[in-house]
Amino acid sequence: MGAPWQHLFHPANADRYRQAVGSAVDHLVDHLGGTAGRPLTGITPREAAERVAAVDLDRPLGAGPDALAELSRLWLDDAIWFHEPTAAAHLNCPVVIPALAAEVFISGVNSSLDTFDQSAGATFIERHLVDWTAARIGYDDQADGIFTTGGTQSNLQALLLALGQQAAPAERLRIFASADGHFSVQKAARMLGLGDAAVVPVPVDLSRRMDPAALSTALSDSVERGDVPMAVVATAGTTDFGAIDPLPEVAALARAYGAWFHVDAAYGGGLLVSPRRRDWLEGIELSDSVAVDYHKTWFQPVSCSALLVRDGATLGHVTWHADYLNPKDSAHPNQVDKSLQTTRRFEALKLWMSLRVMGADAIGEHLDTVIDLADAVAAELTAMPDIDVAAAPQLSTIVFRSCPPGVADEAALAALNAAIRAELFDDGRALVAATKVDGRSYLKLTLLNPIATVDDVLGVVEMVRGAGRRIAGESAAPRAPRQRLAVAR
Ligand SMILES: *Cc1c(COP(=O)(O)O)cnc(C)c1O
Repeated sequence: MGAPWQHLFHPANADRYRQAVGSAVDHLVDHLGGTAGRPLTGITPREAAERVAAVDLDRPLGAGPDALAELSRLWLDDAIWFHEPTAAAHLNCPVVIPALAAEVFISGVNSSLDTFDQSAGATFIERHLVDWTAARIGYDDQADGIFTTGGTQSNLQALLLALGQQAAPAERLRIFASADGHFSVQKAARMLGLGDAAVVPVPVDLSRRMDPAALSTALSDSVERGDVPMAVVATAGTTDFGAIDPLPEVAALARAYGAWFHVDAAYGGGLLVSPRRRDWLEGIELSDSVAVDYHKTWFQPVSCSALLVRDGATLGHVTWHADYLNPKDSAHPNQVDKSLQTTRRFEALKLWMSLRVMGADAIGEHLDTVIDLADAVAAELTAMPDIDVAAAPQLSTIVFRSCPPGVADEAALAALNAAIRAELFDDGRALVAATKVDGRSYLKLTLLNPIATVDDVLGVVEMVRGAGRRIAGESAAPRAPRQRLAVAR
């Protein structure tokens, strides 16, 4: 049997430690280099489930290389790879290398960011990044914030702080967000006990941005009914269209009604470091809080995100003093006072390493590049007679669909586009997303790969068009109905 430190670091174990971690990196790089233009294999859920279910967790393999080989079979051989330019579905990005190096330290040191006595310098690295992001937003030195697991948690915490500022009874409180805003706002309202009806969806204009006139009407109607506007949530980059709500106008209305003004910049937050488009976020500095997902447009691995607040004192709404952890009279600083979490990973280190190695401009240039890419691709799509583009792209998404001649009604278009998407997935050639626009089914490209070229993305579009023409042709031919068209996935 091995020594007690066999699976732990020990000076006598240093070579083994190095080798285990190093061979994991080698294994990863082999897989990254072996995808050969295919972002996925199209493995079925049934097959993926069967392979995993066959593993007996009570019978360990004993050796690292065996576990890596098994991992390939269970997951990596058929994983979804975001470094492939043809993976263009979701807001999940290829990751910058400095952040990956940081991951080794995050887990290897295993600091926990709740208290100084579990993190030392890490606490101040996180705080420095919070201050830096707050300064980029345009907040003054009253500002503060905390790293979170994602936009969902940041939005929840922002609304919890807004609720903490309120004296009115919960059943009267209302949250105003764009009809295209993120569903995590609804979930937050539910978790905060405000109920689903607390969120008032505000209509969007033709470019899918919140319509300030509609917001003004919704606010005054609500006050007339005796309700209390608790918060207005502007979205800086809606998930489907990348639309940035008119921040100065929304800010003015929020202020006029005494509501907390939160900006959900989970997607558009990367513009804070954009060398060419920072001005798109004008007005964000008027907010009370901002959610930023570094794990989207800052090219960081999941998860890496933050909530920033204009007035750091408001974070007191989540403070609780525990004798064992953060007593009031502690001589040490702590971050747990500001967080919904207790034990918390040092996710901030990923952003830190990226900024120290690459610098902010290089991160922002990656975002500028994918916005340019979306513009160039959309310009081509608009000229295609069998493609319907739902709206001009604003960040890096393109909402579109195949509409070959002869497929006219909504139900047929919905079935056709679902079949196209399924075919691309099953073939493992490309990953595109689906969404609905005002009840109508569309496909979506989310471009977050700065290495992808216009031709790469147009190649995906050609796959969509080709599949569309063929499936439509086959379903129109009476003798050869394709079963897939009818199968909902
Ligand atoms: C992705 C997203 C969220 C949710 O963020 P997670 O990091 O996935 O929790 C919230 N709002 C918007 C606009 C988003 O795009």
